[in-house]
Amino acid sequence: MSEGTAKKEEKPRKFQAIRGTRDLLPPETALWNRVEQTAHEIFMTFGFGEIRLPIFEQTELFARSIGAETDVVSKEMYTFGEQDLSRLNSIHHALSSRLSEGSYLSIIPWFEAFVREVEFAIKEDHILQPLPNGVTIEELRKFLASCMDYANRPINELEENEKERQIGLIRAYLQLLETEKLFTLRPEATASVCRAYIEHGMQSLPQPVKLYYMGPMFRRERPQKGRYRQFYQIGAEVLGGSDAPAIDAEVIEMVMTFFDRLELQGVQLDINSIGCRECRPKYVELLRAELFKVKDKLGPDSQRRIETNPLRVLDSKLESEQPIIAKLPRVADHLCEDCAKHYAAVKHQLEMRGVLYRENWRLVRGLDYYMRTTFEITAQGLGSQNAVCGGGRYDGLVELLGGPPTKGIGFAIGEDRLILSLQESGKGPVQQGRDVYIAWMGERAQATAVRAAKDLRKAGFSVELPPVEQKFGKALGQADKLGAKYALILGDNEVSEGLWTLKKLADGSQAKFTEPDLLDHLRKSKPVSS
Ligand code: ATP
Ligand code: MG
Repeated sequence: MSEGTAKKEEKPRKFQAIRGTRDLLPPETALWNRVEQTAHEIFMTFGFGEIRLPIFEQTELFARSIGAETDVVSKEMYTFGEQDLSRLNSIHHALSSRLSEGSYLSIIPWFEAFVREVEFAIKEDHILQPLPNGVTIEELRKFLASCMDYANRPINELEENEKERQIGLIRAYLQLLETEKLFTLRPEATASVCRAYIEHGMQSLPQPVKLYYMGPMFRRERPQKGRYRQFYQIGAEVLGGSDAPAIDAEVIEMVMTFFDRLELQGVQLDINSIGCRECRPKYVELLRAELFKVKDKLGPDSQRRIETNPLRVLDSKLESEQPIIAKLPRVADHLCEDCAKHYAAVKHQLEMRGVLYRENWRLVRGLDYYMRTTFEITAQGLGSQNAVCGGGRYDGLVELLGGPPTKGIGFAIGEDRLILSLQESGKGPVQQGRDVYIAWMGERAQATAVRAAKDLRKAGFSVELPPVEQKFGKALGQADKLGAKYALILGDNEVSEGLWTLKKLADGSQAKFTEPDLLDHLRKSKPVSS
């Protein structure tokens, strides 16, 4: 085959965004920007500061905080290893299998290769110092040297006991240096915020620390309307200080204020309390016992959850399970005194703030770390994926991640769904037109046009300056297509007279202005484009 045919047959491949991910395009991105800008503004008025977090973290962080039995951790996480460690990992693997079946003398060279690779990986920064579990490279080298000394002795001097001792040690080192470090694309950000709170010693700042974030999250889910594999959240967390019910209420008030400012339609706030470490386990046991009694009538998902996570059964949307769930014991009837008081006070605080809510005893959150106050907000136009915000209290989480005992509450808004709902109710952005299209002709006019564009842009107007000369008719057509409000006409006459023609495209009216008058006129006729 000649080079020519090879080229012809090699059809350029068409790439597509991966299922569950998508491009956000103008003009829709203008709405995204408005939503995010509004979040910055509203959250600032409540004293929150922005935190920007890494997109990936150690897998363990999410596994430990969200809970192994949750959908997120058990099946939705995007997890990957450190590529640069692939050589080390394969030697690790080979050595492991030699340890279980190979002879002593075949093990030592592999151990030597392993130590060499560990040293190399450290030098290249592929694994970070200190090594896990307090192992040092010096210690490893010394042990290797003694192994090699021993292995080099005449074969009849090698004692079984010593060989076994060494193999045992090699096995132990191998386990300690389990190098396969795993990372996960963040499925949510609360765990990261808590990690950052601990890492930066934020407990020594005035408490509580109030942080918000926005950005992409990743979950391997079945893509559908309002459910993506890369989706966006806007969230906030209050960490430290007390668990005063007013904090719960103010956090909820903040989300509601944000939605109100965006004129989100059909907003419904559901709240619940799912108890604390004292009372929740007892309720969960009661629930589990009751669920066992009706096990046969439940679907397979709920049957499984009786064991793993009975609270999630309450979440079920399965039609056939609804009458059964309606008869289950309700958490509100099984709260301890403190939790019952806390819940009552949260409701009172919400009322004080004029926040309308509905109590929903079946509202449990999907992630393990929640306790006491939980809430969810739904909006219209979203079909069955109608939750735009989920949140709750998670007082034990920071401690679970190795920090001091710390109170915590927060929420996460699904930005994709928020945007969808705004669009469905006609709150989407109108096509973003230009304010001014500069129709210029002639070399002198171009210089003037460039200057005019600079001044207009400086004043905040959106300006389209064609890169090449156009006939006026064509220029006006183009201005129309771009939805420009005005065409600024600059030809030889205009430039030499110092009088510029401004044409209003909506009605075709036009007038002449001097350069300074033009800016004044435009400023008065329209507020700066938003
Ligand atoms: P759902 O019950 O809809 O799966 P969830 O309980 O998994 O939601 P949270 O982890 O509480 O959701 O996340 C908070 C918000 O993030 C949700 O209310 C939703 O608006 C949004 N969200 C969650 N998963 C997705 C996704 N895959 N695509 C788009 N938005 C999502
Ligand atoms: Mg989910």
